[in-house]
Amino acid sequence: MKNILEIDKKHIWHPYNSLPTKTPILAVKKTKNCKIYLEDGRVLIDSMSSWWSAILGYNNKEIYKSIKKQAKIMPHIMFGGLTHKPAVKLAKNLVKMTGYPSLFLCDSGSVSVEVALKTAILYQKAKGKDKTKFIALKNSYHGDTLGAMSVCDPENSMHSLYGDYLSQNIFVEAPNLGFEADYSLAIKDLEDKLEKYHEQVAAFIVEPVVQGAGGMRIYNPKYLNEAKKLCEKYGILLIFDEVATGFGHTGKLFAFMHTDIKPDILTIGKALTGGTLTMAAMLTTKEISDTISNSSIGVLMHGPTFMANPLACSVANAAIKVFAKINWEKRVKKIEKIFNEELAVLKDNNFVKDVRIIGSIGVVELKDDIYASKLQEFCVQNGVWIRPFGKLFYSIVSYTIKEKELKKICKTMVKAIYSLEKKS
Ligand SMILES: *Cc1c(COP(=O)(O)O)cnc(C)c1O
Repeated sequence: MKNILEIDKKHIWHPYNSLPTKTPILAVKKTKNCKIYLEDGRVLIDSMSSWWSAILGYNNKEIYKSIKKQAKIMPHIMFGGLTHKPAVKLAKNLVKMTGYPSLFLCDSGSVSVEVALKTAILYQKAKGKDKTKFIALKNSYHGDTLGAMSVCDPENSMHSLYGDYLSQNIFVEAPNLGFEADYSLAIKDLEDKLEKYHEQVAAFIVEPVVQGAGGMRIYNPKYLNEAKKLCEKYGILLIFDEVATGFGHTGKLFAFMHTDIKPDILTIGKALTGGTLTMAAMLTTKEISDTISNSSIGVLMHGPTFMANPLACSVANAAIKVFAKINWEKRVKKIEKIFNEELAVLKDNNFVKDVRIIGSIGVVELKDDIYASKLQEFCVQNGVWIRPFGKLFYSIVSYTIKEKELKKICKTMVKAIYSLEKKS
């Protein structure tokens, strides 16, 4: 097929885009560890790990073997009234990794958020309370389905496009930027809003430590300790959306491990299958699953067709095994060190507002949002796949990236910013 791009332009929608797309699209032929091979023969180093997911590089051998093996045994079976080894093994793995005993396996991060929100409402209902609103942070991102979108930052996620169709929730100030920054204003706002609205609010949903797609903001984990106390005081649940931060991205296995507390509900996804298949999960405490199950409601009313898909469960199990084996903690530390060393020169740059780094995440925030496509073009021309959005020029790399490749990514990011100077 020679005219891939032509047919693509004619028929296929790309994320957050028009049809045909107004921005350039590249056709990918294949991948290998941290390299992307384009149909036109060019090879790019991957600096995005496919939106936080491919933390083990592409085409991992053990993951491949797990797909082959499971595809032959049983690619899919409905989960209503039936169970299977891959799901049970995944449950065992996740219970051990997170410490949460009750879990729901679903097909994407957004769906895990929907399930988390529903679980919170049902829990409150089981306790005899009619609470159907949520509190979320400004700059938050929790997914693109309607429920998830209703707890995303109202401006970033274009609430205005959907009008009354979206549920109205309550937004509070996000904590200041910085892992050790003061967060007192944000906590004060949370307390004020809780005091005012707690009777309607089922839960506070938050991306712990790093707000991802809504701003790539790193904040003080201590904020979450205080938030938990307030949630308890006002009888509302705390949901940590770790679809992005989970599986080591912030230097800890889960971002909640930077805090002294555990949320009532946890969502995970993205890197769960090493970026190979779509799979996510909502995890919670026995108290919450018991309260719902022993009430007159009795059930968690959700059940996607591809729930606990055996192929995806097998891949997740294989990914978890590889993840445990590669010494990810040491690798993420090294990545963080290289990001720190290589991107520091940008701190005083005229175009740059802030440089922030945690774990495998390196973020350069620009002062202006008009450069994203220029920066992307420069990097692609220089052999690096990167996808800035708005003011955010960032890289989230696979833990299996070679030092040489990571340095090339960083140096290309720096050169891309320098190239703005020459042009303007
Ligand atoms: C990506 C993301 C989601 C949505 O996950 P999908 O798999 O894209 O539906 C939800 N929450 C957070 C924090 C995310 O980063």
